[in-house]
Amino acid sequence: MSIMVPSTTPALITPGRQALDSALHQLGQAAEQLGLDDGLRTMLATPRRSLTVSVPVRREDGRLDVVQGFRVQHNVSRGPAKGGLRFHPGTDIHEVTALAMWMTWKCALVGIPYGGAKGGVAVDPSGLTTRELERLTRRYVNEILPLIGPEKDIPAPDVGTDEQTMAWIMDTYSVSAGYSVPGVVTGKPATLGGSLGRSGATSRGVQIAALAALGRSPEGVTVAVQGFGKVGGPAAQYLSDAGCKVVAVSDATGAVHASGGLDIARLREWAAETGGVRGFRHGDALAQEDLFELDVDVLVPAALEGAITAVNAPRIRARLIVEGANGPTTPEADEILAANGTTVVPDILANAGGVIVSYLEWVQNMQAYPWSSGEIELKLRDLMLGAFSEVKSVAAERGLTLRQAAHVIGVGRVAEAHQMRGLYP
Ligand code: NAD
Repeated sequence: MSIMVPSTTPALITPGRQALDSALHQLGQAAEQLGLDDGLRTMLATPRRSLTVSVPVRREDGRLDVVQGFRVQHNVSRGPAKGGLRFHPGTDIHEVTALAMWMTWKCALVGIPYGGAKGGVAVDPSGLTTRELERLTRRYVNEILPLIGPEKDIPAPDVGTDEQTMAWIMDTYSVSAGYSVPGVVTGKPATLGGSLGRSGATSRGVQIAALAALGRSPEGVTVAVQGFGKVGGPAAQYLSDAGCKVVAVSDATGAVHASGGLDIARLREWAAETGGVRGFRHGDALAQEDLFELDVDVLVPAALEGAITAVNAPRIRARLIVEGANGPTTPEADEILAANGTTVVPDILANAGGVIVSYLEWVQNMQAYPWSSGEIELKLRDLMLGAFSEVKSVAAERGLTLRQAAHVIGVGRVAEAHQMRGLYP
């Protein structure tokens, strides 16, 4: 079945619209498996609240730019809305809606009491000074202020945002409240109540999922990683630390390859100094797209949506794909990969480590009682491995892919919450 949500730009198929179509397709498959009625399917396909705002930014030279910002709360049946904030020139309301929907299923899948949300500002942060970025962030937060709060909707970092962005959001919200409210965002600096281990949590979760899916010693297992940012960088590091051989890495600047394995710590230093992996001397340059076709055991897409499509999926040789990014594989590519016997650990499972540790950060903030990094790591591992084994069993019982099984569990839990709560009035 297919679920349609009205589009504000029906004639224009943006990457964001494609991401939303993928999310709706996955929901449709899960709804079919679960036998949900049409009313409930439509409710789950439709965001609860969507806000589009215009954000004026005063540039250093005195010019005034106006950019579009979004915050979408897809579902709040199981708890407050939770989801990252993306600064990227290509973001639009459709992309943000898709990302919010995936957050809803992800939180339900790993059993944390949140609904799903996402935010976005259509801007290239690399083209702004730090002061411009701060003004933009604070003004965007001001525009969406009625929606967010520790009991309502809690942002976190995503593409193009970081700890500093979260610190500005926390401060803007706190100034308006009149007192410090650390629980309004997660992924904050530790000095403001951020959780130990949050910055590497998504990547640690990717490592846990990859090793669980491998089911054998990681020693010598070859890996290629697309994207070398907050998720891809530490994921490459953790996989390398575990004994894997990370032979290729790409980012927006280019790609590098070394058949004997890249020195990831050195590559991270190089990327931090120069702004990207391009030009790294201890490896060979590679065309970004060629990374997908390498003869490796594991492929980790950790950049943006729609990276693996019907065009490159037939040429993928990795037997295991672990999705660090949200929505990197289109439904058409999924079918090709399944037919070729490639295992895909889906985004809502593989990259759930970020929201798990965000949840732990929020609990610590609400109790004003911080935990040790050891406790956090243990809880992260427990929740990741628990969700992984549930997904594997449901896939085996129902004859589904891991993505389909993960959606059946996540969507099923949200549907159940709707049914138990009933409809008001
Ligand atoms: P980031 O901005 O820190 O990094 C993005 C990386 O992708 C950068 O290295 C960039 O250069 C690279 N990139 C962009 N276009 C590329 C291309 N065409 N080819 C190769 N590389 C390209 O963002 P992030 O936080 O690492 O997020 C990456 C993905 O992980 C996104 O899909 C995001 O939604 C998802 N995710 C992030 C978190 C988190 O905690 N940050 C949690 C869950 C999921």
